[in-house]
Amino acid sequence: MGVGATTPGMVCGHHHLYSTLARGMPAPPMTPTNFLEVLQQIWWRLDVALDLEMLRWSAMLGALEAIECGTTAIVDHHESPSAIEGSLDVIADACAEVGARVLCAYGVTDRHGPDGARRGLEENERFLRSGGRGLVGVHAAFTCRQETLEGAAALAEDLGVGVHVHVAEGDVDVAAGERLAPLVREDWLVVHGVHLDRQLPATLAHNPRSNMNNAVGYARPRAWQGRVVLGTDGIGADMLEEFRLAYARAREADISTTPEQAWEWVRAGWDLVPEAAGDRVRWDYDGADDPWRLAFTPGVRALDVWVGDEQVLAGGRATRVDAYEVRAKAAEQARRLFERL
Ligand SMILES: [Zn+2]
Repeated sequence: MGVGATTPGMVCGHHHLYSTLARGMPAPPMTPTNFLEVLQQIWWRLDVALDLEMLRWSAMLGALEAIECGTTAIVDHHESPSAIEGSLDVIADACAEVGARVLCAYGVTDRHGPDGARRGLEENERFLRSGGRGLVGVHAAFTCRQETLEGAAALAEDLGVGVHVHVAEGDVDVAAGERLAPLVREDWLVVHGVHLDRQLPATLAHNPRSNMNNAVGYARPRAWQGRVVLGTDGIGADMLEEFRLAYARAREADISTTPEQAWEWVRAGWDLVPEAAGDRVRWDYDGADDPWRLAFTPGVRALDVWVGDEQVLAGGRATRVDAYEVRAKAAEQARRLFERL
């Protein structure tokens, strides 16, 4: 079993485990023509239809797929407006069952009125005060009143954690920089930043595939002065795939970009979730620890994964759960979800 390089566990710096069941969902009533319509027609119809049972199997499948890709830590951002209370425990429990690390956050928003915002904030507080690991979540400045943003920032400061928030993903949220600048701190995780009009003293989560999929533009992560990590924004958790895409996109913008520069964004994940640096992944490729080889080698697979001392993937198969059963249960819940849509 000598073949195959070993690396630390990969970190997905921005994920939505609630969206794993969305693949194959019924087409929206009208075809979205811009980013806001993508949210309205797809994601805001999906999240409101979720109950805790659907969420459980969506998170189980998402966590399983992460482990199968050598991703041992997930920084999750969650919204299920019809099932807020307890939702972060459902996600944390699902990840624990599969053996993945997770940092949870509930995305507070005023889209469902002040009561919805209050309940979202309470879910963050309840989960974090009871010992859950995570950040305080905010959907985005453009769906929140200023006092909601202030409430989330104050709660995060009180709990000694950062805020995990979408920032200027589309031009609809171009005022985010101005509104968040007085609140943001170093431990915040700001996501996307494509249309951000200023530097913020925080970590940036760059999601190249999602940004292309939503046609919002290029985030230019090399111009960010602080730490940059990579996220998938809910499109799986294959961080080598996201790395190759991040490299290609950076290269498209500037031909002097090197694979090492893009690999820095992978490495920064271990600052975000330090325990993942102690996890081990054995890959099916002997160049899996070399950014120059990885950047041009699609399809590298994780064979064995250890989270701490426990092996959670052996020969490509999950050890703690039956992958076939997880996929079958997830498919069953996806059918329920699609009927509701
Ligand atoms: Zn997102």
